[in-house]
Amino acid sequence: MPEFQRPRGTRDFGPEEMAKRRLVESKLRETARLFGFGEVMTPTFESTDLFVEKSGEDIVGEIYAFEDKKNRKIALRPELTASVMRFYVNEMQSLPKPVKIFYFGNMFRYERPQKGRYREFFQFGAELIGAPSIEADAEILALAYYCTESVNASVADIRIGHLGVLKTLFDKYSIDDSHQIEIRRFLDKKDFEGMNSYFSNNSLSNEALKYLKKIALTKGSPDKLDDIKNLLGSECESIDYLIGLAKKIEEYGIRNYSIDLGVARGLDYYTGMVFEIDGVGLGAESQICGGGAYSLAKLFGGKEVYSTGFAFGFDRLMIARNSKNDRIESLDAYIVPVSNRAKKRCIEVASILRNKKISAEIDLLDRSISKAMKYANTVKVKNVIIIGNEELNSMCVTIKNMKTGIQEKVKEKDIVQYITKCRN
Ligand code: AMP
Repeated sequence: MPEFQRPRGTRDFGPEEMAKRRLVESKLRETARLFGFGEVMTPTFESTDLFVEKSGEDIVGEIYAFEDKKNRKIALRPELTASVMRFYVNEMQSLPKPVKIFYFGNMFRYERPQKGRYREFFQFGAELIGAPSIEADAEILALAYYCTESVNASVADIRIGHLGVLKTLFDKYSIDDSHQIEIRRFLDKKDFEGMNSYFSNNSLSNEALKYLKKIALTKGSPDKLDDIKNLLGSECESIDYLIGLAKKIEEYGIRNYSIDLGVARGLDYYTGMVFEIDGVGLGAESQICGGGAYSLAKLFGGKEVYSTGFAFGFDRLMIARNSKNDRIESLDAYIVPVSNRAKKRCIEVASILRNKKISAEIDLLDRSISKAMKYANTVKVKNVIIIGNEELNSMCVTIKNMKTGIQEKVKEKDIVQYITKCRN
């Protein structure tokens, strides 16, 4: 066993995997930019209090929190919405609205690692701040949808709920805030048994429990909401909101969605619309995206502003996507000097190609031609360029196209054109 192991729950990514990840990142970035979102970056660590303010004291047990050399409480970020909203409150409140930002970065959570769940993982997310709610929510849902499309992810429908429905029920049966938080946690985990016990242990209304389960199991097209509307009475604004939102996202051409009032998102700062997207073939950790409308600016000392956003679990997105048509570029040219005299010329040819944005590697190991060919095959190089004394004397190079097997002498002035033609 090697002396040094990776810390538990972390991963190393080799060049091939990184090429795929960078490709997917670039597609996500491009999609966000197409929607007019701009990228931001915030520190990898923040003051622990920021996350405690947002999610409560219990979060400390779930994150990498420590004291620095001056005894300041510091935490590696477990998510980015808190950091982005801190940044917004500090520096972006006076910008023209809406503020549309996206981010990509690594997050850290002290979790029990398993497939799709790591201690260091990556998120791609977006926040839309300061637009009217229904328009903003629809735009955020559309961006999330187009992100899954742009990277060819196999996903189930977008499940959209609204916390206002639960809130109306809680108010109707006078269930107070502390019970609400606990009940939302049971709902988020779909732990109905736990919820039964919680209701009986706290002497909460059986009727409320019955209706709560009915709400949590309401899933399907927007007309499923009629039943719930009858149950809660006509004042349930969030039902009308969801019906309006469903219409709006259909205007974006999105059909792959369902209303799911069971989406509760365990986190307490969500206020209205909430949604989740599951990936196909992911096993237990299937959720690849979660989001919704939230209220944080005021909590962080800023002015109240409508905010809505999402975060994709990038690593799960990588598992859920079909990579069959990915075009990962292989090396264009591998240049082999056959004599010491040819080495200088190899560097010159490599420089010419690199200046024209053609990737080129020089053999640094004095390989024989047959060994060089074997290596080129293994690393899937497109062309091998051989330069020996004969080539030096005739101002040309020998190029072997590794796909066709054709080997030709090419004049030095024609190398760029020749290699470019092989690319197509
Ligand atoms: P959350 O910030 O908890 O709403 O998570 C947003 C998304 O990040 C989830 O839907 C997951 O896809 C992903 N995610 C959360 N925790 C982890 C983890 N420990 N490892 C990998 N992905 C995660």
